[in-house]
Amino acid sequence: MEKNCAIVGINWGDEGKGRMVDLFTEDYDIVVRYQGGGNAGHTVINDKGKFALHLLPSGIFRDKVVNILGNGVALDPENLWAEICDVREKGVSITPENLKISDRASLLLPWHRQMDELEEQRLADKKYGSTKQGIAPFYSDKYQKKTVLAGELFYPEKMKEQLMGLLEWKNLILKGVYGAKPVSETYIDEWVKNYCEKIKPFICDTGEFLKNASENGKKILFEAQLGSLRDLDYGIYPYTTSSNTIAAYAPIGSGFPGAKIDRILGVVKAYSTCVGEGPFVSEMFGDEAEALRAAGNEYGAKTGRPRRVGAMDLIATAYGIEVQSATEVALTKLDVLSGMEQIPVCVAYTLNGKEIYRFPFPTALSDAKPVIQYKKGWMQDISGVRKWEDLPKEARDYVIFIEKAIGCPVKYISVGPERDSIIVKE
Ligand code: GDP
Repeated sequence: MEKNCAIVGINWGDEGKGRMVDLFTEDYDIVVRYQGGGNAGHTVINDKGKFALHLLPSGIFRDKVVNILGNGVALDPENLWAEICDVREKGVSITPENLKISDRASLLLPWHRQMDELEEQRLADKKYGSTKQGIAPFYSDKYQKKTVLAGELFYPEKMKEQLMGLLEWKNLILKGVYGAKPVSETYIDEWVKNYCEKIKPFICDTGEFLKNASENGKKILFEAQLGSLRDLDYGIYPYTTSSNTIAAYAPIGSGFPGAKIDRILGVVKAYSTCVGEGPFVSEMFGDEAEALRAAGNEYGAKTGRPRRVGAMDLIATAYGIEVQSATEVALTKLDVLSGMEQIPVCVAYTLNGKEIYRFPFPTALSDAKPVIQYKKGWMQDISGVRKWEDLPKEARDYVIFIEKAIGCPVKYISVGPERDSIIVKE
């Protein structure tokens, strides 16, 4: 029987994973975030309102769904607590029953955001385009074993001792390397009291919970942040994030390493967008780009930064599908392309005078140029369409063309941000 599913991004992120998770949760018992932190945002619009989620799993709006923050996430107590308060204020119940935080999740410490900011300042025009949420310093410290686990909150004396050791070390770097102000012991004590203690009731052994739930036939949905091209190992390094965004990491980052994933839904946007720095071969500029950006409301959920926009990049997308091992695709924001007489699609790259069809090594990517083909657009508004056969022929042709090029079936097409603005393509 088909059970577990991962919903992942195929491109640079912001593909609309949150809205797909929100839709899918109707059929799942548990939603797990397995990597990343509060550095990106899912926008979800449903009967409870409009929400910009950063760390909370998108299943938080369904009454019977248990939401888990796995050991692979960057657990920022300060931001998480602010997000819990914010979502609760809008009438959504969040309790230790429907939100569980892995005791093995490492804590993003107060100096991580500071380190991120200082390093981006030092890099100046060579910066990576970090969202400055402390994610890269956090993951570096996690792998250096220089942070603390959420479960250590249950051992306050040992945790204090550990934190003081880390403080001493980090202050050497803050002062010595960056000439910055050191962090004080009082600051850390306050941080523990004001944020860590608040999230403590949610912390438990989520691995045991997941294993038992799975044995009892419960269905798990794994929710990723960002997309294939930002994966630390498989993305456009170093313009990646500092964690693994691909579905293969979901069992590890969730706390249930033995989890089997039966379906991998790859979310692909009907055109391309990219937040931050790095090569973006099919990027569009000028009025054409501005019109697409405005039509798609392409401004970062966390930062408000205008997103770079471009033609659907079939080379990057096919690669994204491959590294995710996607079994099916949700093509989002097709409605945004309505009214374009001709829709540009990047069907190949040229590199060193040759046409190539395989996504190249990251260093070569900055020399690649797009080969653009134009597809016939449709003039009518499609946001009210709910059936495949009711889409204009040009829209169906566009979807079928993409489907063939990426070699993965498109099962869902979204034509608006609302929960029901979806077409299921058989
Ligand atoms: P995520 O991080 O992958 O969940 O993506 P984001 O939430 O950052 O970006 C997706 C944005 O597109 C959100 O503002 C959604 O509300 C919106 N959205 C999702 N699907 C559609 C769609 O089919 N049409 C339109 N117009 N907007 C959509």
